[in-house]
Amino acid sequence: MATQTKSSPKNTKKTGDSASQENNNGHQKMFDAVLSRLDTAAKKINLSDDISAILRTAQKQVLVSIPVTMDNGKVEVFEGYRVVHSTCLGPSKGGIRYAMDVDLDEVNALAAWMSFKCAVANLPYGGAKGGIKCDPRKLSSGELERMTRAYTRAMADVFGVDKDIPAPDMGTGKKEMAWIVNEYANIKRFTEPGVVTGKPLTIGGSQGREAATGRGVMITTLEAMKVLGLNKKSATAAVQGFGNVGSHAARLLHEQKIKIVAISDHTTAIYNEKGIDVAKAIQYVQNNGNTLKGFNGGTEISNAELLTCDVDVLVPAAIQNQITEQNAHDIKAKLIVEGANGPTTAEADEILSEKGIHVVPDILANAGGVTVSYFEWVQNRTGHYWSEEEVNAKHDKNMILAFENVWFNSKQFKTTMRTAAYITALKRIGKAIEYRGKY
Ligand code: GLU
Repeated sequence: MATQTKSSPKNTKKTGDSASQENNNGHQKMFDAVLSRLDTAAKKINLSDDISAILRTAQKQVLVSIPVTMDNGKVEVFEGYRVVHSTCLGPSKGGIRYAMDVDLDEVNALAAWMSFKCAVANLPYGGAKGGIKCDPRKLSSGELERMTRAYTRAMADVFGVDKDIPAPDMGTGKKEMAWIVNEYANIKRFTEPGVVTGKPLTIGGSQGREAATGRGVMITTLEAMKVLGLNKKSATAAVQGFGNVGSHAARLLHEQKIKIVAISDHTTAIYNEKGIDVAKAIQYVQNNGNTLKGFNGGTEISNAELLTCDVDVLVPAAIQNQITEQNAHDIKAKLIVEGANGPTTAEADEILSEKGIHVVPDILANAGGVTVSYFEWVQNRTGHYWSEEEVNAKHDKNMILAFENVWFNSKQFKTTMRTAAYITALKRIGKAIEYRGKY
């Protein structure tokens, strides 16, 4: 197992020049997108250069090679990553992603977003993210298990209940988390359920965790609609992505009487002016090999049409870089609530703000998942488990408080909710760094 620690990409970049680099999709590099948001917020609050410099670089970046014996008997070697961006507010927290576009730039960005997200949600955590470059849809269950266990062995000294706590992200779920907790127990010779969150209920998972990110999207949507004066009863919404985040968000918004007129996944997008029967769509996906393709609850549209359709609320809950300078001008929604991490590029931020479109940013809108991860960790450590009602009530309270703080800062600093969310995070993390000391 080769383990290598890499230096941070462009960690010396300073204000103003962070929008210069592009990746091979033509988009700004993801970590640069983080830095440009950080710069904007730092300027507004005159954040000290020292704090800004500390946060421009991840604390630790680990790259491992993961040899896996495939079902055909041949060995394939996968790239595995774990980036710990910050531990200023507590042990680092963040998911593990299985996807083909996983690379050091992406994992660095996602890890930094976790630091800011945990700070916005006022959780006692720093931020981290991990990933394996692979297409999980092409791997058998046995291959996935061997790969996950090998990744856990490689990261056994990185993870720890008071050190770094992984969770699900794109392409992973409770099944992978169960393998991680089990492999970690094999290595340590004792069970430490709080070393990973998002586990199945029977082995220390929390009620409400699976739906939590979607629930947070629903709560922050309702809060934003309230302050923006959007009427819930006549509101329409489009949800991009029908995985764990999008499907629960659509279901919960539908339960709140918001008409869901468009949904999509990686295979198709569906539009129905009269409203989509979300429960039926979820059922369909479950019986159709996890895809929406062929669902007859509306007419098929393109992904581009979904993003620009005439709705009150747009929920991008799929992947990053979906709202860009190319399509931002065409967005008709009044409110965007980011279920995914990084669905909007920094260039698009400006266009949306000029158009008066409000954005509940990812580090606030999708913080419900890590909030209930925190509750899972607390339950694991106390050995006392809560009902779904208790978890949901605590979640809703925390998310409403987080929203109110961000909204307050957006008014106080006369800025977008995105910049206000970064301001909220930077103030908290900055204070923690000052108390801990710079020496
Ligand atoms: N992967 C999720 C996120 O991006 C959850 C992280 C966690 O629960 O630690 O927020």
